[in-house]
Amino acid sequence: MTTDTGSEIVLSTRALTKHFHVGGGFAGRPSRVVRAVDGVTLEIRARETFALVGESGCGKTTLGRVMLRLQEPTSGEIVYDGTELTGLGEGEMRALRKKMQIVFQDPYASLNPRMRIEQILAEPLRSHGYGTPAEIRERCAELLELVGLRTQYLRNYPHQFSGGQRQRIGIARALANKPDFVVCDESVSALDVSIQAQVLNLLADLQDQLKLTYFFITHDLAVVRQFADRVGVMFLGRLVEVGTTEEIFARPLHPYTMLLMAAVPRPDPRARGGERPMMQGEIPSPMALPPGCRFHTRCPFARDICRVEDPALQNHAGHTVACHFPLEN
Ligand code: SF4
Repeated sequence: MTTDTGSEIVLSTRALTKHFHVGGGFAGRPSRVVRAVDGVTLEIRARETFALVGESGCGKTTLGRVMLRLQEPTSGEIVYDGTELTGLGEGEMRALRKKMQIVFQDPYASLNPRMRIEQILAEPLRSHGYGTPAEIRERCAELLELVGLRTQYLRNYPHQFSGGQRQRIGIARALANKPDFVVCDESVSALDVSIQAQVLNLLADLQDQLKLTYFFITHDLAVVRQFADRVGVMFLGRLVEVGTTEEIFARPLHPYTMLLMAAVPRPDPRARGGERPMMQGEIPSPMALPPGCRFHTRCPFARDICRVEDPALQNHAGHTVACHFPLEN
């Protein structure tokens, strides 16, 4: 599949949802539904870095996991490399998982402290029938070198490494079976700023070298600006705006995007009509979503229609935006 601009699509979702039922069962009380992902349609292009941003609790991590079917979707479609994933059995999914990997946030928690690095790296290789023990050992050494660590560390345990080194090992493990699509879930958030820059440089080099596509989940807009090609902005389980990084930062069209971006220092800050409006109120509960536009309780530009009619994602001035009154910049 290709886009209008001729780029190849690696992964797409259509009306993807993930709802959780919470509570209920006590004294006949009904359970309540958390709409963590609520109708997400998007396309990820080959070899791009697509950043997904939004406040904590907006459904970013759930979306990343559901896209890989690490959590089962409630409804909707996920198409990876031309194959619809939601109907696949565990065996077929296992074969595809080689190509779709995840790098987790916490380099301390994501590596088994009782395993040597060689065992950690060999595990995904063995489980996908990579080759003979000698070939697996060779691949483990190759993987450590790929992420800039010396092969002598293969005998070490995770506690013998710094946070940045552990995240390099996490990346090496994700790349063991030569994936082409990698979800990076807040993968540099737990690192110091200088180490963060080194790991981002490594990810960029690996993307060039191995032709990787990244789905980069983060709340850090400075990282997005430096690292991403395109950005999707998520609010309460929905995408509210998608565009190139340059466009999103220079000319946000959705009020929520503008208010998020306003928090990032810029050399040429633009404000709508001089003074920047402020985000109002608290984020609504995903169990009690407001009617109409789900951002209307916080939006400084809300009008009557916003309280009753849910805006659809539509193309507007080169972005995709879900707002009845996209901003003029
Ligand atoms: Fe604000 Fe209305 Fe746009 Fe929602 S639809 S973001 S409430 S202006």
